[in-house]
Amino acid sequence: MDRRKFMTNIGVAAGTIAVATTAKAENYVKSKEDPPISSVAKNALTPEFIVDEATGDISQTPGQRMAFQRCFGCFDNCGLRVRVDDKTDKILRVNGNPYCENNSGDPLPLDMPVKEAFKNLTGDQGHNNRATTCGRGTAATDSVDDERRVTQVLKRAGKRGEGKWNTIPYEQALKEIVEGGDLFGEGKVAGLREIRQLDKEAAPGQPEFGSAANHLFATYLGDNAARSNFYTRFMINSWGTSNIGKKSAYCGAQQRLGLALAAVNPHQGAWHAHPDWKEARYAIFLGTSPGNSGNSLNSLGRQLADARVDNGFKYVSVDPLLRTTPSANTGGEWVPIKPGRDTPFLFALMRVMFDNNWINAHHLSTANAAAAKAKGELHHTNASHLVITEPNHPQNGKFLSGSTIGLTGENPVVIDPRTGQPADAETVQDGKLFVDQTLTDKDGKPLSVKSSLTILRAEAQRNSLATYAEATGISEKKLRQIARDFTSHGRRSSVMLSTASSSADGFVTGWLTGLLNTLIGSHHAKGGAAYWLGFHNGSKNDRYQLGKIDGGFSGTEIGITASREGRYENSTEYKNKRANNQPLYPASQPWMEIAPVKHAGEMLTSHANNDPYRFRAFFSWRNNVTYGNSGLSQAVINSMKDPKQLGLSVGIDCHLNETTNLCDYLIPDLSAHEEYAADRMWGSEMKGFSAGAPVVTPRTVKDQYGRHVCMERFLIDIALMMNLPGFGKNAIRTSDGRQVDLFTLEDWSARYLANVATMCKKLPPVTKEDMIWSGAERAMKPLNDKLTPAERTAVAAVLSRGGYYEAEPRYSGDFLNGHTGRCLRIYNEAVTSFIHAYSGKAYPGIPTYQPNHFWNGDNWEKHWPQDEFPLLFSSYKSTLRSPYSVAFKRTAEFSPTNYIYMNIHTAKELGLASGDKVRITSPTGRFTDGQLQTDEGVVKGAIAVGMGFGHSRGFGGDDRMIDGKLISGLKERATGTSVNPMLPTDPTRTGESLLLDYWTGCTARHGVSIKVTKLS
Ligand code: SF4
Repeated sequence: MDRRKFMTNIGVAAGTIAVATTAKAENYVKSKEDPPISSVAKNALTPEFIVDEATGDISQTPGQRMAFQRCFGCFDNCGLRVRVDDKTDKILRVNGNPYCENNSGDPLPLDMPVKEAFKNLTGDQGHNNRATTCGRGTAATDSVDDERRVTQVLKRAGKRGEGKWNTIPYEQALKEIVEGGDLFGEGKVAGLREIRQLDKEAAPGQPEFGSAANHLFATYLGDNAARSNFYTRFMINSWGTSNIGKKSAYCGAQQRLGLALAAVNPHQGAWHAHPDWKEARYAIFLGTSPGNSGNSLNSLGRQLADARVDNGFKYVSVDPLLRTTPSANTGGEWVPIKPGRDTPFLFALMRVMFDNNWINAHHLSTANAAAAKAKGELHHTNASHLVITEPNHPQNGKFLSGSTIGLTGENPVVIDPRTGQPADAETVQDGKLFVDQTLTDKDGKPLSVKSSLTILRAEAQRNSLATYAEATGISEKKLRQIARDFTSHGRRSSVMLSTASSSADGFVTGWLTGLLNTLIGSHHAKGGAAYWLGFHNGSKNDRYQLGKIDGGFSGTEIGITASREGRYENSTEYKNKRANNQPLYPASQPWMEIAPVKHAGEMLTSHANNDPYRFRAFFSWRNNVTYGNSGLSQAVINSMKDPKQLGLSVGIDCHLNETTNLCDYLIPDLSAHEEYAADRMWGSEMKGFSAGAPVVTPRTVKDQYGRHVCMERFLIDIALMMNLPGFGKNAIRTSDGRQVDLFTLEDWSARYLANVATMCKKLPPVTKEDMIWSGAERAMKPLNDKLTPAERTAVAAVLSRGGYYEAEPRYSGDFLNGHTGRCLRIYNEAVTSFIHAYSGKAYPGIPTYQPNHFWNGDNWEKHWPQDEFPLLFSSYKSTLRSPYSVAFKRTAEFSPTNYIYMNIHTAKELGLASGDKVRITSPTGRFTDGQLQTDEGVVKGAIAVGMGFGHSRGFGGDDRMIDGKLISGLKERATGTSVNPMLPTDPTRTGESLLLDYWTGCTARHGVSIKVTKLS
């Protein structure tokens, strides 16, 4: 049989053959009793489609249905096409969505009929049209019928955290949670009705912390927009709590917030860069390598291969750990770096670039938007804009405005290179890049000024290359070579980072990556640093006014979070100190002002410290803060376990994880394949989103009316019982003056999808055949009567393609299409308006290099003696693992455990060897144990440990008793080392604390000092 016939016989296998055929999960392999489908593929799955060999036409396989969904195996949100067995209602296999760039590289056009698109997947076309999912996405279907998934409502039967549960009717749980009572034989528990006290202050005497409604602390994941918007609408807009925490702050938010500062002011967004793979020639990957973390793992392998073959793409992976791609002859080079030293590495590159004038002066000197247009640039920059550097001047550190020196208007000022004189930045084409001089102000006084670029250059040159080499462990020669390579490809080069950012200066690291890309003119340039074009957020369309609630809250009036995400200078503490003539700084605790990140871990330390107050109720929906956030102390965990400190604790999830195991109730929730979705994709530059509807029947228990229990059902019922605004009859206003009900999951999802779909400009026409082949006909049934005819058509169009993927020309001239020009910021003046709550000093307008330090400014080494803790810690994202993937059976099979990786020479010096059982101890005395693996693939003097392992307290790795029956832990879920509990806190803070990024207050963990000792 030739290859084409073989492929047509087995149907479309795409990239998942290896995973599916080697997996043990029984629903993926036909049973031995089933007749063989051919002599070649004896008990393989029946084909996805049946291909008529004579005509090439395809027909559906009887007994199976197709559906589109979005993948939630990680937060890249690729598309999925799903095969479901009609009889068993079980997912047989998933592959990629051929319309989605993340799955197929060169996606098929949206207006191609669905059947035609599927036909394009058949036969032997090499890599063309191979719409795939990665190994993790393929395995994620296991979660639907996972043997330890919780589908019943549970109430704890022993002490909180003891692992003993009883199943109870949903209605009982609902009543107890709302009304409270002596629920556990431990005394009275306040219910939600009692806790929501809008007329009392959360922290009496400190009005900035809002009302006592803030005593409800709610966590969530945040990366599934349709459902997250519902959750936040309930928590913030209806209930009125500001304490809604998510994972970003302990998952690298500082890198994206820092990167964004190269282009926007604080609070104006977070950016995420990746190379423009189609035209890239060179890239620096910091703390990762292509395909190991970051943008869609699913597409990166193909993108890298194509870039290498088509364009001779080369890259360097600057990382404590040698990962798979640079070791596999992919045009990459591994440069080992000491963990947590990425900032000095980037400053070293910057220094070499300034020393040699390897910067894009044409781009940088562009002084305004009109000049950018005239010069064929997309962006202009403030590199030439002058900053006042007169220490005692009231505007010191601010941009010089024209009126200050007698010019007309308030625009920034540059030195006109043609005249050598100051000029309104809006009136010239270019500004002089390097300026350090004294002007005369309008009153005739001398005024020293520097250009933005001069200030940045001075900071980069403040330290010698030798200092940077010493800090990073990378030789000066290598640093020069990387800088040379980075700047030798014009704009077709970029630098990007991933987990490198999780150090105490991760925000600075991210900021520097943005600035380095600015220095070569790479942002949005063909072959440069690329960014997604955005997606359609259903709460941002007023067709259905989902974000507004009559009688509800907008979010700004409910006070700041318990974790103090606000301005210290507005606080009662500050005002009292001033009134009493006390020193204003330091504040008693950090205030996170530059970038409020809704830090769930910091909210918990506030709770444990009872400062400013304790929470009375906790909701954890699809989140696992006690596992995911490094450094939470046992005292914090105890404060969650103790009913006297936290009265009511509710988990909403598919799993009893490390956090929901500490709850009083577990409300079962939908799995990713059972939910409605419309989400942004990482890894695609197209404007659009992946979308889907439930592809199988939810496995959760039903309520008394026959409706499946889920997060939305639970919160709607709470709202109806408590008469909260924004739910029930006529709860949602429409832009055409109607009001519609919000009683069910479908009421919300239909309107959310309608908002999303009606924002799409180029929806394809949809035929009956499309509806059947795509599964949209089935998906639309619960939604149809909630929508107008036009909305039905639009939503059906979206679901029939598994999302919306706007195909525009990729480039406009030398830049990626669809992006608007802006002022790139070498100097970010807005940052200087924030004051550090310990030092009392304003933050600088450029990133600065200061070795890792604590909140009070002490260097880490001062408290963590190097002779006692000689090694540096780093962690990394394991390719197949994500926070929830331990519940993907095949993931646990393919990636069963992790190791503590250490350089073989370092191990020898310490008397250690591969296979040793060892203990990692941090300066706080906390430790974790694991198995050592030694080789040359880790930087000397450090260890690297993969995240996502060691689930001994959740996901079924734990023993649990339900209705008196012991369900033993699955040992394969508990294997490996979980490092987060070992990581240290900040010894310069009071009370329970976390180790934080100095600027943003995000969690830091990279580069901390540890020791490794052999266990006997
Ligand atoms: S990269 Fe993430 S979203 Fe994409 S297929 Fe893999 S697991 Fe799914």
